[in-house]
Amino acid sequence: MRPLQMVDTKTQYRKIKSEVDAAVLSVMESSMFIGGKVVSEFAENLAKYHGSKYCITCANGTDALQIAMMALGLKPGDEVITPSFTYIATVEVAALLNIKPIFVEVNAQTFCIDPEAIEKAITPKTKAIIPVHLYGHAADMEKIMLIAKKYNLVVIEDNAQAIGCDYIFDDGTVKKTGTIGDIGCTSFYPSKNLGAFGDGGAIFTDDDALADKLRMIASHGQSKRYYHDVVGCNSRLDAIQAAILNIKLTHLDAYIAARRKAADFYDKAFAGNKSIITPYRASNNKHVFHQYTLTLADINRDKLNQFLTDNGVPNMIYYPVPAHRQKMFDAFGGKEYNLLVTDWLTERVISLPIHTELDEEQQEFIANKVLEFINR
Ligand SMILES: *Cc1c(COP(=O)(O)O)cnc(C)c1O
Repeated sequence: MRPLQMVDTKTQYRKIKSEVDAAVLSVMESSMFIGGKVVSEFAENLAKYHGSKYCITCANGTDALQIAMMALGLKPGDEVITPSFTYIATVEVAALLNIKPIFVEVNAQTFCIDPEAIEKAITPKTKAIIPVHLYGHAADMEKIMLIAKKYNLVVIEDNAQAIGCDYIFDDGTVKKTGTIGDIGCTSFYPSKNLGAFGDGGAIFTDDDALADKLRMIASHGQSKRYYHDVVGCNSRLDAIQAAILNIKLTHLDAYIAARRKAADFYDKAFAGNKSIITPYRASNNKHVFHQYTLTLADINRDKLNQFLTDNGVPNMIYYPVPAHRQKMFDAFGGKEYNLLVTDWLTERVISLPIHTELDEEQQEFIANKVLEFINR
């Protein structure tokens, strides 16, 4: 059996090596390492893939979120409503800008922010909602957008884990996640569904004025070279990453299909087992399985984690500590929250290897080890 890994970027690379190597070499030959045609072409291709008017590339997904908050004019003291059950980057940048994250519950099935909890958390200081499409499953965007409209709030989608996910509205309209809110943010961290060979990120919007602001802020607040109108930062996707991503983008739909196939295999292997809750797939979106995350009903997660590790099966806990319980947020009243669903999930989730290169022999071994632990 081929060695098991949480993600297998090496095998994936080998399959497209000649394309990727040629693209990287051509950037090296051109000596255009920052900006240039390769970067703007990738931004255009990615905007087209998303059906988004603008795509602004930047250095990573965390920067994308920060630049989005800056462009929307969020100020110290403003409140943004976010899930606590997320990767820290979503909320860290708010804290960095002295914007107060207000942590709310997620839906126990979808792992995404609970729209009812959002509405209850709104105060006169609330300015934005930041849904996270966790593990590759979309948040309930139709309801979230209605709430945003009702209370005049902006929406920033954290789409770092769900690039390529189709969201289906009640009237049948289909949109990619990351293009539904005012701004969408994504990451090209190597293990993400569209992964670079280093760091990278992108921001999406359909709004002309916002696009200008986003671009300006990502580039030292420049309106034109050496004229700095607003306080910005330095956040760029480099040309080598853009060249690689341009090629990987042409494979993205096939990569998503491979992830779904792997998820289907696990679903079947665990079907009917009362101890295991397999990932829910709401009918209003098409899961892209950045992670394949089980919720354990009545077995000890940490013991399974240890058993799998001892038996050579990689597995991860995303995330062992929710944001509101991180020391970082003590100063933001993190300890005052009482998020029962979030705590419940934090103790029960476990993610199995899922990527584009898994074969059935590997998956059978992984599933059998999980079942061996449960049935012993
Ligand atoms: C990866 C990730 C980010 C941050 O992306 P980086 O490129 O690592 O900065 C933000 N939010 C979520 C949900 C992520 O998974």
